[in-house]
Amino acid sequence: MLLDEHTQPANLDTISKSQKEKGLMLHNVVYGQLKKWQPISKLLPRFVPVLDHGPEQRSESMNHSLVQNLLQMGWCIHHATRICRKQNTSVLRYLAGIKRTDVVGVSHDACSEQTCVAYHARIDDSYTVRHVQADCNCEFLTVPKDIVHRIAHGGGIPLVHPWTTPDGTIRLEVIEAIGSDRYIAISHVWADGLGNPTSNSLPRCQLQRLTRLLTKISDDLESGHGRHVLRVKKMWRSLIRKRAPLLFWMDTLCIPVGPNSEIARRRAIQRMALIYAGADGVLVLDHEHRFVDRRVESKEKLYARMLISKWNTRCWTLQEAVLARKLFWEFGQEIEILQPANMSSISRHSPAASQLISPGDGISQLLIKAVKAQVRTSDPGAVLVKSKKIGRLSLLNAEINFLGVWNELGQRSTTKINDIHVMLANLTDFSAGQIMAIPSQVERTKVMFFCHGSFPLDIMWNEGIRPDAGEDNANRWIPAIPGPEPLEDSTNILFTDVGLVFEPGLGPLPPQILVVERDPYSPYICLQYDDGPNQQWLRVECREVPDDKIQREMYHGSCYIIRGENAARFLIVNQQIPWHPQSDTLLLRYDCAASVRSVSKLALDGMAMPIVTANSQVAGRKIVIEHQQNSDTIAKIVRRSK
Ligand SMILES: [Zn+2]
Ligand SMILES: [Zn+2]
Repeated sequence: MLLDEHTQPANLDTISKSQKEKGLMLHNVVYGQLKKWQPISKLLPRFVPVLDHGPEQRSESMNHSLVQNLLQMGWCIHHATRICRKQNTSVLRYLAGIKRTDVVGVSHDACSEQTCVAYHARIDDSYTVRHVQADCNCEFLTVPKDIVHRIAHGGGIPLVHPWTTPDGTIRLEVIEAIGSDRYIAISHVWADGLGNPTSNSLPRCQLQRLTRLLTKISDDLESGHGRHVLRVKKMWRSLIRKRAPLLFWMDTLCIPVGPNSEIARRRAIQRMALIYAGADGVLVLDHEHRFVDRRVESKEKLYARMLISKWNTRCWTLQEAVLARKLFWEFGQEIEILQPANMSSISRHSPAASQLISPGDGISQLLIKAVKAQVRTSDPGAVLVKSKKIGRLSLLNAEINFLGVWNELGQRSTTKINDIHVMLANLTDFSAGQIMAIPSQVERTKVMFFCHGSFPLDIMWNEGIRPDAGEDNANRWIPAIPGPEPLEDSTNILFTDVGLVFEPGLGPLPPQILVVERDPYSPYICLQYDDGPNQQWLRVECREVPDDKIQREMYHGSCYIIRGENAARFLIVNQQIPWHPQSDTLLLRYDCAASVRSVSKLALDGMAMPIVTANSQVAGRKIVIEHQQNSDTIAKIVRRSK
């Protein structure tokens, strides 16, 4: 879903106890066994990074040709590149047989390998709400807006009850959810035209379509998924039991919009994790699936379509997928169910062999495993990460969980980057209210990293938005939001009271550290250093930001931390030269990210760039990267599993 700029949840302190209890009551009933108040984080299924099954080792040219195959079928370059990184060759060859169709008006021409911008719907008057058929002109049906507003303002959850009058007219009622209500939450990508930025309404034809789909889901749920239950038994049930009313939640209808709705809207958004977790299931709508006939299409092709759906490429839908108890996918007029594995039963055993990719897997098994891993409903990693006390994470696991969410969100797209920390908090150990009460994105990221204690070194050269990169302060390295490249370096940086610390000599693959005493601070530079008896040369390209306020000449040299072709340049803050016998610490300020290439002496002649001598003898020195602590903020934020 998409949200506008009024999406920051209020500080938790502003929500009354009764509001909290109301929300939790629903949750408690949903989860049945709770005797006392527990924070939601302890109950929700955990997001975990996929223990990647694929891809196999592939050559660059092979990768290129697989991506090209997908592009020819109408894929977005970002999505094609991303899926090639994750899936094995037989899955990719299968996927390349599926022609992609986007909703009219959507184009991937402006997308890049790093990001897709095609589904960034404009949430203003120019947004087009779509009818089921392009030539339809039916009227819009509005939910009772004042009731939605009142419920949301009071911290409750509005649910829509659609019903049809004897003359076939559809009506929308709104009720406030109570614990025993069973409902379906609807999840969609706004670019498909099912949003509405100006009114809690949708065209009648779309509501008829939704009601039909929801009725099918309700039939399935009533009959224990229909397929295994005799028709007679189904009829008997319907005779002896009054059918539960059809209820659903959808952002377009249930999050107040319009003037004077800011507070109610903010509260409604704060409830979203709870709404998706408390629903019987989530109905996934993708325009591309509307014209697929589920009865004709093979099972594996349906799984393939779930796997490649644009629904998997958006940030908000990650939260909705992770929290869902079941996913109901629309295909044509029919529903296909994706049933998550029973996490609590799995957690008592070692990884189920059936969940790991095995050599004998046919394409159908490969696809179902891939799609379940994609939507995180069944993931062998969960078994490893979940500790024995259900839902509580050890420190290490909390960190793996956080990194998994960080990396996944970095590869997805959202129209409003301001929403990212809400999702990051909801899917990890933080309270979205507390995190969003911090005004700047940089500070939010910093606090979350700090609470985890450590993070991989590659954050220093990871591509991403660094709002403070041009400021002369210690926050220069901090990304506002996750970048497109996953963090996976084996060296960790630790947050300590003195700064960000890492021991260059530790770990199986220590990064290379080169110190330059008189650095001309050129964006292009060649570093010459001794590697044992041999001389080596590195061509370095520093990604300096324009109009940088830092005064490099005030520092005492520079330090390059290098991992393969990636690096970051730091400026030396302490006065003593680092290889001085009395100096055991190198205090650094982050300068910028860089790219590195090893070159031969011969190649140097053709390069018009300064060649400087670098010293690699810093082993044993502690490296401390300056860090501006904001202890007031950090003291207030406590990870929930602590
Ligand atoms: Zn795209
Ligand atoms: Zn219509």
